[in-house]
Amino acid sequence: MRLRRTRHVGWYEIMSQCPICGKKGWCGINEDQTIVHCMRVPSDKFKDTDIGRQYTHYLTEHIPREKIEVEVSNAVEKRSNDHLNRVYRALTREIPLSARHANHLMNDRMMDDQSIRLREYRTMPDRDRYKVAKGVIGRISSDTDLLGVPGFFAQEGRYGPYWTMAGDTGLMVPFRSILNEIIGWQIRVDKPKLELTMEGSIKGNILEEVEPLPNGLRRAKCSLQVQDKTLEVILTEKDKKICNSKSGQFVFSVRLQQGTKYWWWSSGSKLNGASIGGPLPVHLALPYPCLPYWKTGEDPSGLIDCSEIWITEGAMKADLAADMMVKPFMAIPGTGAFRLALEPLKQLGCRHVVLAYDADAVTTPEVQRSLELCAEFFAKESDMALSLAMWDVSLGKGIDDLLRANYVPQVSSLLA
Ligand SMILES: [Zn+2]
Repeated sequence: MRLRRTRHVGWYEIMSQCPICGKKGWCGINEDQTIVHCMRVPSDKFKDTDIGRQYTHYLTEHIPREKIEVEVSNAVEKRSNDHLNRVYRALTREIPLSARHANHLMNDRMMDDQSIRLREYRTMPDRDRYKVAKGVIGRISSDTDLLGVPGFFAQEGRYGPYWTMAGDTGLMVPFRSILNEIIGWQIRVDKPKLELTMEGSIKGNILEEVEPLPNGLRRAKCSLQVQDKTLEVILTEKDKKICNSKSGQFVFSVRLQQGTKYWWWSSGSKLNGASIGGPLPVHLALPYPCLPYWKTGEDPSGLIDCSEIWITEGAMKADLAADMMVKPFMAIPGTGAFRLALEPLKQLGCRHVVLAYDADAVTTPEVQRSLELCAEFFAKESDMALSLAMWDVSLGKGIDDLLRANYVPQVSSLLA
């Protein structure tokens, strides 16, 4: 089990599969591996946190303990929003948006070219990152200014440590505070890692990626252990293999798929790096014509009516939806992370919050629960009204897909 230290001594975030829900990320475990705080599978005992409700599960002897591997952490505390903004603005002047990523935004996402420019998307280069870091240092006052800025870290070199940047190559999406400070980035990685999803009595791992099919589907050589046999096979992305016994009973299934596409730009596991969390950023997206007039440090309520704000997951989705609906959107990092939105919404003078989560997620028990918790939370902590935007998934998955197809969502009240 791969673990990452948290702010609470003796508690770790599970970076590999959670023993309770089987998913990766968010869930926590104690050092002795006796208690799991799962974010997805409910239990009677729980605690509410910034990122959602954590359910307590006691691990019994039936679940064998795994060898734990704690990620090395030489991280330092994340700096203030004001400081992060100064460094990240300098970064925007050191790296461009690649033509390939600009084309993706224009042609696949149908984003206006003015919007693309004003929103300051960038491309994480695949080489010479230390040169970029050097350029950023040249624009700010000293190299210690990169200390505590998620994404940057120190690399040991032949002549001592030097600053460089973490993360996979991809499209960088900035997160803006309600005062138009850039306070973090997510990277939409060009080539997400391949992963195996397995159910039933099977174990396995990916050995290496091989040539993709002519249609672009990725393939990998995998080692699978079924009963006592180990076999090497080449699996193709998305192609789910299911094995049933002669009597028709399910034995196992295995599927190769692309892992997470969006990652926080963070360097918490590296020397002199910093983690993006504590707290994770939320992003305020205004329609792009507002952006040239939105000064850093300024509340946007003079530029646009903020009495109604829509909430979705993902900064790019929020940007696209803000442009198409001409309304302010806020992006939160996950449907359970609504607590992070409360203070910024209050500061903006919001009276009505509309939740616009992906149509395929809204009907899952996990999101249904988080909607109930969200309504409970807003009723207790604010006097804002809360609504839910819904649509048929066949019209589009995300709110941006729906709007692009020229539909509007149906809005129903959760909390008057
Ligand atoms: Zn879990």
